[in-house]
Amino acid sequence: NLSDKLDKALHVLKGHGQITEVNVAETLKEVRRALVDADVNYKIAKEFTSTVKEKALGQDVLSSLKPGQLMVKLVKDELVKLMGGEVAGINLSGDPSIILMSGLQGSGKTTFSGKLANFLKTKKTKKPLLVACDVYRPAAIDQLHVVGDQIGVEVFSDREEKNPVAISEKALAYAKENGHNVVIIDTAGRLAVDEAMMTEISNIHNAIQPQETLFVVDSMTGQDAVNTAKAFNDVLNFDGVILTKLDGDTRGGAAISIKSVVNKPIKFIGTGEKMEAIDVFYPERMADRILGMGDVVSLVERAQDQYDEEEARKLQKKIAKNQFGFDDFLKQIQQVKKMGNMKDLVGMIPGAGKMMKDIDIDDDAFKHIEAIIHSMTPEERTQPSVINASRKKRIGKGSGTSVTQVNQLLKQFDQMSKMMKMMQGGGGKRMMQMMKG
Ligand code: GDP
Ligand code: MG
Repeated sequence: NLSDKLDKALHVLKGHGQITEVNVAETLKEVRRALVDADVNYKIAKEFTSTVKEKALGQDVLSSLKPGQLMVKLVKDELVKLMGGEVAGINLSGDPSIILMSGLQGSGKTTFSGKLANFLKTKKTKKPLLVACDVYRPAAIDQLHVVGDQIGVEVFSDREEKNPVAISEKALAYAKENGHNVVIIDTAGRLAVDEAMMTEISNIHNAIQPQETLFVVDSMTGQDAVNTAKAFNDVLNFDGVILTKLDGDTRGGAAISIKSVVNKPIKFIGTGEKMEAIDVFYPERMADRILGMGDVVSLVERAQDQYDEEEARKLQKKIAKNQFGFDDFLKQIQQVKKMGNMKDLVGMIPGAGKMMKDIDIDDDAFKHIEAIIHSMTPEERTQPSVINASRKKRIGKGSGTSVTQVNQLLKQFDQMSKMMKMMQGGGGKRMMQMMKG
């Protein structure tokens, strides 16, 4: 599903040492592919990723401490925006308020009519009336009666009347007489968009002037859902979308595209066959669902680990070329400090594991090492052999340590360098393991 694919897309970040402009672009290309695969309209997906890219580069993702997480956040924020941002309510201002259901056969209109009636009855203390306007299938009328009985909501039907416009007009009159303040009209759908269905629903729409015309769509139908939505919207200019069957292993793509194609909010979702399986649509929650937030975040953390590995690889090259200097040493220390675990540091500094095993290291010891390195000139860092007695004195003073401590570090560094050189011959793999801890 989409979550997995986005997960995979963000994996691209994993293979690279750092997040660069190049792999931000690569990652977003994968994100785009994932969206398209999940039935998000290609154009929308493209716009989406270019917006995210702009923001990513603008917000200095590259130099942020956790670039991957920032990327996830940007993707999520943009998804939320794409799906409408805010929660959209439904208009109940009419007396009675008329709600018209539209959509293809099997999309879930009858089920949702019942769910909405139940929702309005219990949450908004309304007195709804359900109206059966599917004149083609007697079973559809029976179905709505079963639903009504289940939730204790009255159902208006007229098995003799074959004109849905007439039925809905009769139903309105009945509602006014009997104090129903919400009228929910369930209509017939067909298996595909056709002229006859559009004419019928449009006639009902014109006759009763509903406050809310809702388009019900099966979220499992993917890209088709978007095309259907467009066809219905062109005729009805509906007020909101109901996404049904979001309980299964459904791809979220429809939710993303529909809003941007018809520019109408998704108002409710259906998450099961039971009458209680209705939820107000929250763009934020949907984005979380699509992203599978927890997983993505941990993935991104793994990407950070990978970063270390890449650094280690670079380091290995430097060692091979005899270019390992105090700057690299410092980098290692800082990287491990970022992770916050002293033991990791020992494991990570090449050759240091054995050497420092018996030495009691605490944070202060680190501070000294860092201070000493900071007090070295760039030349001294890359070529420690130039550090003579007077330089040692200067470094000691500059770092607030003693010449003895400077000597100690130089000696340790020297031993370490030798050890690393020794390990080069065939020991590369082992060293990589040591560096990884
Ligand atoms: P209609 O032809 O548009 O009126 O669609 P129905 O309301 O008859 O629903 C068609 C089928 O989809 C029925 O078997 C419903 O039980 C099922 N259904 C409707 N909404 C949902 C939902 O949110 N989740 C699941 N799993 N099934 C649903
Ligand atoms: Mg039906």
